[in-house]
Amino acid sequence: MPDRAGLAGATEKCGVVGVALADREAARPVYYAMYALQHRGQESAGIATHDGFQQHSHVERGLVGDAISEADLTDLRGSTGIGHVRYPTSGGLNTCCAQPFAVSFKSGSLGLAHNGNLVNTDELRADLEAAGHAFTSEGDTEVIAHELARNLLDADLVRAVKRTMDRVHGSYSLTIMHDEAVLGLRDPLGNRPLCIGALDDGYVLASESAAVDALDGELVRDVRPGELVVLDPDGSGFDSYRLVEEPEPAHCFFEHVYFARPDSVIDDSLVYEVRRDLGRALWRESGVEADVVMPVPDSGRAFASGYAEAANEEDAPVEFAEGLMKNRYVGRTFIMPTQDERERAVRLKLNPIRSTVAGRRVTLVDDSIVRGTTSTQLVELLRDAGADEVHVRIGAPPINAPCYMGIDMASREELIAADQSVDEVCDEIGADSLAYLSMGAVADALEAEQTGLCTGCVTGEYPYDVEGEDTDREVVPPEV
Ligand code: AMP
Repeated sequence: MPDRAGLAGATEKCGVVGVALADREAARPVYYAMYALQHRGQESAGIATHDGFQQHSHVERGLVGDAISEADLTDLRGSTGIGHVRYPTSGGLNTCCAQPFAVSFKSGSLGLAHNGNLVNTDELRADLEAAGHAFTSEGDTEVIAHELARNLLDADLVRAVKRTMDRVHGSYSLTIMHDEAVLGLRDPLGNRPLCIGALDDGYVLASESAAVDALDGELVRDVRPGELVVLDPDGSGFDSYRLVEEPEPAHCFFEHVYFARPDSVIDDSLVYEVRRDLGRALWRESGVEADVVMPVPDSGRAFASGYAEAANEEDAPVEFAEGLMKNRYVGRTFIMPTQDERERAVRLKLNPIRSTVAGRRVTLVDDSIVRGTTSTQLVELLRDAGADEVHVRIGAPPINAPCYMGIDMASREELIAADQSVDEVCDEIGADSLAYLSMGAVADALEAEQTGLCTGCVTGEYPYDVEGEDTDREVVPPEV
């Protein structure tokens, strides 16, 4: 366990891709795969390719379609490549984190696309700086690149990656390009997802299988925790190296609850089915009599359908209805500097269908409550639309603590559940009743042991020590 954590330049919610093809330019398939992963990051998009002689790269602010033009794709020559989409931050383009990070060392060219967050960045950076490495950014990805480059000076590729892995701690799913070789690496915790797909004329690595589908490929399997996958540059196959003897997985449960696309398969489970199972479990744990069950679109949809189905099977007839309509043009990039504007954003984003709501007992289902802005606003909106009762059901346990492993959550002070019981949160959001799902039910739905999941945002206990996190502080335990 590292005892010192460096969280500067955190590489948060991101999507990564790697492609090796037999006899076709890689840039376009990488671009399509990035489109399929757009939900994982909207701040910047980038591609790096290798044509057998040199590396080409293009990184730009914005959505994939805006950041990369037809001319860029033409310039990105070569049949191997990697890609990255990065989550938005409030400031300008954060150059530390725009990726892939592409650089040439004595040991050859390197490109890195990183999803996750290291916890010992400062320590590694200081060490590398003392050894003469100069950094151009604050980001942890550049630290991995320098560490790998240093190890490549006197070791072959696999040994160099193994040594790098022994040094870097935290969460990382990486696609790496070393000259024309494309590699996929998942940390020993398997904290962030990464999978392998087969194409007619090559192989693809991607954060989620939805990207493999977008290329008409077949999901081969997940990259295992602590595994290095090296794609043959001619697209004919891949080699696998288990670099960690006994990995101890700490898969992020929140990927399944909120972050991943419902049509992705992660760690052998279809995300959509997991969410429906969580909805069913939510009914079993805290079902409440109501006239209508409605999701918070889009995040609550699968949960609400599972919840309503379970209720109807158990002789508690309830209508399932989409009683809130979403304005699809209000994206996640909507700028909300003040709480007032955040509230306005919810109002612009979601509008109730009065006839579904008026004079009825409503159960509103969502995947999670973070700050509580969405649920507070929606409860009020539904009451204004004439709802008799509003019950809120949440398909995950209370989010009590920040995430240091790669998901952009609020700070602890902003988390509505951090210092309050479920009843207090219920009062604050103004609902008639509120229930969360238990962690046990989440583990059951994922067919995982609770110990095999990273539950830091619920328990405040992380798979790594995190500098600055007051671990003695009491976390209000989930009451369900
Ligand atoms: P809040 O309004 O702050 O309570 O956030 C809860 C809403 O945001 C829910 O509808 C979630 O689906 C969604 N959500 C959950 N986690 C995140 C996240 N890390 N980033 C953006 N939205 C999120």
